Formats: sequence, structure tokens, C-alpha cells
Amino acid sequence: MPPNLIVVRVDGRNFHRFSEVHEFEKPNDEKALNLMNQCAIAVLEEYPDIVFSYGYSDEYSFVLKKTSKFYQRRSSKISSVIASFFTSVYVTKWKEFFPFKELRYPPSFLSRIVCCASLEVLQAYLAWRQRDCHVQNQYNTCLWELVKKGGKSKIEAQEILKDAREQDRNELLHQQFGINYNDSLALFRQGTCIFKTEVEDIVKYNEDGTPVKRLRRKASTFRTENIAGKRFWNAHAGLVK
Ligand code: ATP
Ligand code: ATP
Ligand code: MG
Ligand code: MG
Ligand code: MG
Repeated sequence: MPPNLIVVRVDGRNFHRFSEVHEFEKPNDEKALNLMNQCAIAVLEEYPDIVFSYGYSDEYSFVLKKTSKFYQRRSSKISSVIASFFTSVYVTKWKEFFPFKELRYPPSFLSRIVCCASLEVLQAYLAWRQRDCHVQNQYNTCLWELVKKGGKSKIEAQEILKDAREQDRNELLHQQFGINYNDSLALFRQGTCIFKTEVEDIVKYNEDGTPVKRLRRKASTFRTENIAGKRFWNAHAGLVK
């Protein structure tokens, strides 16, 4: 019900297996992340009411504008149409990102609706997802360094990391592998935000040489360390109106 904000989160089904079968680079396959980002951009460009999006790994959250009347705000319709659109874009764009890798089986994405009662709740939700991005990425970075360079088995590496706190994991990366975690790609550490802007396109020119312009929706990506930060939302709170 209004004035809640509607968020749809899609997440790849069993992508642990999908990423193995398709030999994704571990811990982060950049092409696979870029494919996810392109699918999300396609969603924003397809559905006018989706104004903002955040994602990492095999998931993306889509935020509808507050006043949206998309499918009369019926959750099963909104959730299913976005998941199926996202999935078919993922499949059609696969070859663009992996020209030499055959798609071995059809992937699927689950989706759910998250209801945010206010902008503050939305910010807390996004902060929670971004926190998860960081925790997962830091853990996986350690795990795969231990396996690839440390000569450990996956089980041994998991055992080493079991009780390590966030700070310990950064220390481990630094001391054993000479890696400064904060130097790794922001794409991996922070995830990707996408929002929509309207740009003016020149469609044609009149006889007197004046341009005929049309407004077009364009989705742009950006990264931020703190998705719930004041700086971004002061500038973009209007997005979800
Ligand atoms: P579920 O069906 O419950 O979502 P899942 O296997 O998809 O199960 P997730 O928690 O969604 O579990 O995790 C996604 C997994 O997909 C990650 O753990 C990682 O192994 C893999 N994965 C996703 N994207 C990438 C990527 N770009 N590079 C490497 N691995 C990836
Ligand atoms: P909505 O998004 O509301 O479902 P819709 O255009 O898909 O809109 P439906 O009532 O589902 O409306 O009808 C599907 C339409 O798709 C049919 O009216 C028909 O025009 C077309 N269609 C579907 N399958 C076929 C087919 N095999 N051959 C020819 N036309 C088809
Ligand atoms: Mg998944
Ligand atoms: Mg996931
Ligand atoms: Mg139909």
C-alpha cells in the first residue's frame, strides 16, 4: 500500500553451481558482473517506474518510485514480470559477454518484494545489502587467496577463516599475500548503483535548421562506498518521489 516504497530483489538460483559449471573466475568474475549490470540497466530502461537499483554477485534490487501504479502495485505481477525480463535479458546477452563460452543450461532468477515504509527504511535496506556485498567479497577474497596462492584446500581455508573477524581478514590478506583489500576494484567491494536520468536526444532537424528534441530515459551506473550516505541521497532523494 502507498506510501510504502516497493523494492524487487532478484537473485540467481543456485549460482554457486552455475558459476562453477560456467567456470567463473573466483572470487570475482568481472564479465559475469558486467553482464548482471547490463541486465539491470535493461530493466531500468524497460520499466519507467523503476528509478534506482543496486546489485552485486548474482543479485539486484530494483526500487520503484513512491507513487508507482505499475500493475496496480500487485506484488505477484511486479515480481514475476521483472524476474522473467531480467532472466531473458541475461540469456540473450550471454554471448556478448562470453563469446567463447557456451551457456550450458538455462539459468533462473528468483524474486521477492521488499516493502520499505520510508526513505530511511530504504536506505537501511540498501546499507544491509551493501554490507553483505562487502562481507561476502572480503571472505571470498581471503578464501581464494588461501586456495590459489596459499596452497590450502577449500576446507582448510574455510577452517582458517571460520573465526576470523573483519580486521583479521584484512590483516591476513596484507601479511600473507601483500594485498591491500581497499585497493581491489570498487566493482567487487562496493557493488553497483544504477539510476535513471532523462537525456535530450536530437531526433531530426527542421527545415529551418532547428533541432527536434525528444526526452529519452538513460540509466547510468556509479559506485559509492556508502550507499546510505547523505551526499548521494541529498542529491537524489527526488528519484523515488
Ligand atoms: P540461492 O539459490 O539460494 O541464491 P546461490 O548458490 O545462488 O543459491 P548466493 O548466496 O546467491 O547462493 O550466492 C551466489 C554465488 O554465486 C556466490 O557464492 C558465488 O559463488 C557465485 N557467483 C555469483 N556471481 C559471481 C561472479 N561474478 N564471480 C564468481 N562467482 C560468482
Ligand atoms: P498481457 O500482458 O496482459 O498478458 P497480452 O498481449 O499478452 O497482454 P493475452 O490475453 O495474454 O494478452 O493474449 C496473448 C496474445 O498473444 C493473443 O491475443 C495473441 O494475439 C498473441 N498470441 C499468443 N500466442 C500466439 C500464437 N501462438 N499465435 C498467434 N498469436 C499469439
Ligand atoms: Mg543466488
Ligand atoms: Mg545471491
Ligand atoms: Mg499475455
